[in-house]
Amino acid sequence: MPSESPQTPWIERAVASPAVRAGYLSLVAHVVVCIILAILALEARRSPPPAPLELRFGEAEAAGDEQLAEVALGEPIEEPEALAGSSPAAEAVPLPAEDVPLVAVQSPIDAPLPPAEEPSPRLDPAGLPARAVSVRVGGGATAAAQSASAVASGTAAFSPRRGGARGTAALARGGSAASEAAVEAGLAWLARHQAGDGSWQFDLSGCRCDGACRDPGTLTGSTASTAIALLPFLGAGSTHVDGPYHETVSRGIYYLLSRMQPTPRGGDFCEGTMYGHGVTTLVLAEALGMTGDEMLAPSVRDAVRFTATAQDLHGGGWRYLPGQAGDITVTAWQIAALKSAMLAGVEVPSPTIDGARRFLDRVQTQGGAAYGYRTPAAKPCTSAVGLLCRMYTGWGSGHEALHRGVTNLAKPGPHPTNIYQNFYLAQALLQLDHPVWPRWNAKNRDQLVASQARFGHEAGSWFFADHDTAPGGRLAHTALAVLTLEVYYRLLPIYREEAVDRDF
Ligand SMILES: [Zn+2]
Repeated sequence: MPSESPQTPWIERAVASPAVRAGYLSLVAHVVVCIILAILALEARRSPPPAPLELRFGEAEAAGDEQLAEVALGEPIEEPEALAGSSPAAEAVPLPAEDVPLVAVQSPIDAPLPPAEEPSPRLDPAGLPARAVSVRVGGGATAAAQSASAVASGTAAFSPRRGGARGTAALARGGSAASEAAVEAGLAWLARHQAGDGSWQFDLSGCRCDGACRDPGTLTGSTASTAIALLPFLGAGSTHVDGPYHETVSRGIYYLLSRMQPTPRGGDFCEGTMYGHGVTTLVLAEALGMTGDEMLAPSVRDAVRFTATAQDLHGGGWRYLPGQAGDITVTAWQIAALKSAMLAGVEVPSPTIDGARRFLDRVQTQGGAAYGYRTPAAKPCTSAVGLLCRMYTGWGSGHEALHRGVTNLAKPGPHPTNIYQNFYLAQALLQLDHPVWPRWNAKNRDQLVASQARFGHEAGSWFFADHDTAPGGRLAHTALAVLTLEVYYRLLPIYREEAVDRDF
């Protein structure tokens, strides 16, 4: 170290002093620490935020491949005239699976999103959290064990909806690449017409359609419209937990939960009619059965209790208002909801099912092969509804009247415009593996695909010239058409063999 002298400039003396050098070192050290902390903070901000939903997926995917029975493709036991000249499409050879874009013909991710992803604040009357439905990531052994007993049957029942299993089931049961594409386009239309609050409305209000689609419905009651629109998403494997439309479904289910009115007689989703309560209960029960999300179980139990207490104790059916003498269409939705709830592990009172059977006895004719609306004055549509209800409530596939009734209804082929009748008859025919199914289905499938709107805002939707269901408008017709084209997956547990063959 050079010796300091009086001639050394003061600045050099200062720099050379031990105190100043220590200060420099401290300053440098602090600057380095600050830089490191800043880098760490930036990295943390780049990381994705915590997922708003914790996911717990169901059982192994595609577990049902080997369980898919081939449709009996034998000759029809009776060659209906209306089917004898069916188009060559009816004879279509199944396409090889690898050539068929069965699941994502039109990627749902690319489809236009609903107008708002966040639930509207005004739809939070009960102070529910933004995500009312709780699900868990991975589902550790404990969570899986807790839900296993409740959803054992439901989880297995839904396996054909997923991925490759869905495509396999569609081809094996009579679907086609075109019908699967129609399903995807239908789902995209439904997603585009979800209102900003997560609901759907029969009159297509609250979304960005703004009159661009014709034939809006006139019915009111947002639980019915929201629930009927959600069913096709569940049918295609999307739940509030997973699937390409899980956000759409989550917002819809959240909306439904926010509409429940607690009463001493159970959870009321009516909003005016038991039709809305029945379809809503069906949606929640399916979502519970498909995911095992225990947060849904109390709502389903409450809804089932309301269904039971709203039954007409004398006649055994349901109608618009709780306690009214029943009609077969509202009753059918309650029966479907109860069956689905049972498959999800929710207890259903046996007197309620006994009452439903009593109602069917009261409106049947021809020894149980035909059914009327509120009396035994039978029509094809009410007969199709009644026969499927019989399957839900214990009539086995070998029941003579059941087989006779379904065969009679299938003779003329699918109705050209009555989507409601075809929706029920398709399920009944497939459940029975009826010999006429391949021909009946090919015609029904192809006329549905051909009648789907192709252009403009209506693209992907349906509307039929059907007087009975016109009040539901384009929304209801689209939902029913998609559900009919999804029948091949046996997606809804109430449509599976074990759901039919197993008594309540
Ligand atoms: Zn529109």
